[in-house]
Amino acid sequence: MGKGDKKDKKSSRAEKREAESESAGSDASEDEEDISWIQWFCSLKGNEFFCEVDEDYIQDDFNLTGLASQVPYYEYALDTILDIELSADESLTEEQSDMIESASELLYGLIHARFILTSRGMAVMLEKFQHVDFGRCPRVYCQGQPCLPVGQSDVPRQRTVKIFCPKCDDIYFPKQSRHMNLDGCYFGTTFPHLFLHMYGDQQPPLPTEKYTARIYGFKLHSTFRDSPHYTSYGRR
Ligand SMILES: [Zn+2]
Repeated sequence: MGKGDKKDKKSSRAEKREAESESAGSDASEDEEDISWIQWFCSLKGNEFFCEVDEDYIQDDFNLTGLASQVPYYEYALDTILDIELSADESLTEEQSDMIESASELLYGLIHARFILTSRGMAVMLEKFQHVDFGRCPRVYCQGQPCLPVGQSDVPRQRTVKIFCPKCDDIYFPKQSRHMNLDGCYFGTTFPHLFLHMYGDQQPPLPTEKYTARIYGFKLHSTFRDSPHYTSYGRR
C-alpha cells in the first residue's frame, strides 16, 4: 500500500473523530457509539477481505506471542488497535504517527492471520464467504464459485493476497485492483484449507466440465505441446 493511501486513511479517521467530537458537543445522545479502530480499518476501501477481530482475542497476550519482535512501535500499535488513547504527557510527531499507523496495520494483519484460524474467526469468515466478500472464481467451468483469501507466504511483504477456489483447487489474483496490494500473510497459507476442513459442507463438488482446446473444431493431440510448431510459435 502506498504512502498516499495511508495518509488518506489517517486523515479520514482524524476527520471522522473531529466530526464525532463536534457533534458530540452539540448532540451527544445521537453520537455515542464511536466507531472503533477495528471497525474503521475493516470498512476502508481495499480492506474488504479482513474480518473484525474480537477485541477479547487481541487483549489475550497469549494470542500475540512473538508479534512484538515483528512489529515496530509495537505497544503504540497495539494501543491504536484497541483505541487506547495516548496519555496526556505523550505527544508524537507527524512522522511518528505515520509510522505507528502503518505498524498498526501490520500488527492487525498479523493478528488477523492468527484469528481466522480459530473457530470464532472461521465463523466470522464463513459469513463473509457466504456473502461472496472474497469474489468468485474467474474460471468459466467453476460457474461463479465463491473463493476464499489465501497467502502464498506467512512472512510479511513477500506475496500479495490471492483468492483460492475450492472447486478447481487453484489460486487467482483478486478481481479488484484495490486488493492487489494487500499482503497475503494477513490471511496466511493455511486458512482456506483449514476452513474447508472445518466446514466440509462448504466444499463444492469437483467441476464436471473441462475446457477442450480445438483448432477448426478438432481436438489437439496430447503431443501438440511438444511439437516444434507449438514450441516455436505458440510459446515464444
Ligand atoms: Zn475455480
